[in-house]
Amino acid sequence: MEKTTATPPKKLGLKEKYALMTRGLGWEPTYRGADELYDQIKFEGIKIHDWSKWEDPFRLTMESYWKYQAEKERKLYAIIDAFEQNNGHLNVSDGRYVNTLKLFLTGITPAEYGAHRLFAMLGRQFPGVGAAIACQMQAIDELRHVQTQVHTISQYNKFFSGMSEWRHMTDRVWYMSVPKSFFEDAMTAGPFEQMIAISFSLEYLLTNLVFMPFMSAAAYNGDMATVTFGFSSQSDEARHMTLGLECIKFVLEQDPANVPIVQRYLDKWFWRGYRLLSLVSMMLDYMLPKKVMSWKEAWEIYFVQNGGSLFNDLSRYGIRMPKYWEQTVASADRLSHETWNTFYNFAGAAAFHSWAPSDEDMAWLSEKYPDTFDQHYRPRFEWYREQEAQGKRFYNNSLPMLCQTCQIPLNASEPDDPTKTAYREVEHEGNKYHFCSDGCRDIFCHEPEKYVQAWLPANQVLQGNCFEPGVDPEAPGFDAAAELFKYYRLTPGQDNGDYRGSKDEANWLKWKGLAPADAAEAA
Ligand code: FE
Ligand code: ZN
Repeated sequence: MEKTTATPPKKLGLKEKYALMTRGLGWEPTYRGADELYDQIKFEGIKIHDWSKWEDPFRLTMESYWKYQAEKERKLYAIIDAFEQNNGHLNVSDGRYVNTLKLFLTGITPAEYGAHRLFAMLGRQFPGVGAAIACQMQAIDELRHVQTQVHTISQYNKFFSGMSEWRHMTDRVWYMSVPKSFFEDAMTAGPFEQMIAISFSLEYLLTNLVFMPFMSAAAYNGDMATVTFGFSSQSDEARHMTLGLECIKFVLEQDPANVPIVQRYLDKWFWRGYRLLSLVSMMLDYMLPKKVMSWKEAWEIYFVQNGGSLFNDLSRYGIRMPKYWEQTVASADRLSHETWNTFYNFAGAAAFHSWAPSDEDMAWLSEKYPDTFDQHYRPRFEWYREQEAQGKRFYNNSLPMLCQTCQIPLNASEPDDPTKTAYREVEHEGNKYHFCSDGCRDIFCHEPEKYVQAWLPANQVLQGNCFEPGVDPEAPGFDAAAELFKYYRLTPGQDNGDYRGSKDEANWLKWKGLAPADAAEAA
C-alpha cells in the first residue's frame, strides 16, 4: 500500500534550495562562545543586531558557482591558447604597449592574491552565513584572477623583459609598494573596514576606472589575452560590487551609530584608492600607443557622475561624498602628467620602460588638457627630448621622498596651485613624517601606530636594507646601484631605462620588419 500512495518528493523552489544550501549549512556554536569564535567582529565599534537581514542578491549555491566558473575558465583558456599559438603578442599596437601590461600585471597579480587572502579571512570572521558564503566565493574568485593573470604573464614573458621576477619584485621594487601597502593596510584592518575598503571603495567605486577604459584600451591595442582575462574577471566583479554595496547598506541599516564609522572608512579608502589610481591615469594618457579616453574624461564619467549618483543614493543614510573629493577633480588635469614625469625620471630603477611623448602624443595631450598641458608639461617633455637628442637622456639618480601613507613619491601639486609641490608634515613621538596630500595626512593621524611601521622603499634603501644577505656596504668598491638591482632582481640595461634603445624595442622592430625610428628618419 505504502508504495502506491507515496508522492514523489516535492521539488524545491530556488529560494528554498538556496536557503538549504547556504544558510542551512550554518550552525550555532555550542562548545565555544561567539565572542571567542568571531574575535574581530566587535573592536571597530560597528553594531550588528540581526545578521539574518543580510540579503544575498545573487542567490548562488556552491553547485551553480562551480558550474558557472568552470564554463568561464573553459572559454578563457581556449582564447589564451589561441593567442599563444597565433603569436598574438605580435598583433599589439606597438612594443611600447607591453610596458603598460608589465605595470598592470606585475602590480595587480599580487594584489589579487592579497584580495584572495583577505576574503578567506573575512569569510571566517563574519557570523552571518550569507556574508560568510559571499566572502568564500570571492576568495576563490580572486585566486582564479591571479591564475588567469599568471597565464597572461607567462605568455608575454617569453618575448618581453621585466616580468620574469614579478613574485620577488612585488616585495622589493619601490613602486610595487604602492599597491602592496594598499592591500596590506586593508588586510590588517577590522573585518568591516576590510569589506568597505575592497568590496565597496575599490570594487564598487573605483575598479570601473580599471576595467572599463583600460580593458577597452587593451582591445583597441590588439591585446586579446588581457581583454579575455579582463572580461572573465569583470563578470565576477559584478558579484563583488554587489557584495560591497550590500554590506554597506546592511551596516548602515543596522544601527545609526555605524554611520560615522562607515563615513570615515569611505573617506579613507576613497583617498587611498584615488592615489593608487594615479598609476592608471598615466597608463591611459601616456602608456597606450592607441588611446581611448583621457584620465580626466574617465574620472568625470566613472567617479564624478557614476560615483556621485551612488553617494546621492547613500545620502538617505546620512552618508556624504568622500572627504577631499573636490581636490581629485581640481587635480584631474594634472595627475597623469605628474605621475608619468616621475616614471620618466626614475626609469633607471623601474622594471618597465618609460619614454618622452612623441609629437603625436603631445598633440593629443594638448587637445585633452587645454588648460594645463601646453603651459606646464609640454616644455618639460620638450626639454627631455632635447636632452635625449644630444645623447643625454635624463635619469634622476636620487631617492625621492615618499608619502608615509600611500608610499607614492611627493610628486603631486597643490590642489589650488599646479606649480607648487604638495607637502604635508606631521610630528609623532619625536619623528617627522611626510605626506603627499591632506587625505594621506589625515589617514596617518587617525592611526599613527599603524603607519609608522610602513616599509618605505626609499628609506629602506638608505638604511641599507635593500641588499642581498651577506653584502657589505663598507667593502671597498661597493656599488650601491648594482647591489640594489640584484636585490630587485632587475637586469640593468634590459628591464629598465628608456624604451628607445631597449632590447624590447630592438626585438619588436626586428619581428615587425621595421627600421629603428632614427634610421627611418635619416633615410
Ligand atoms: Fe579580482
Ligand atoms: Zn599619499
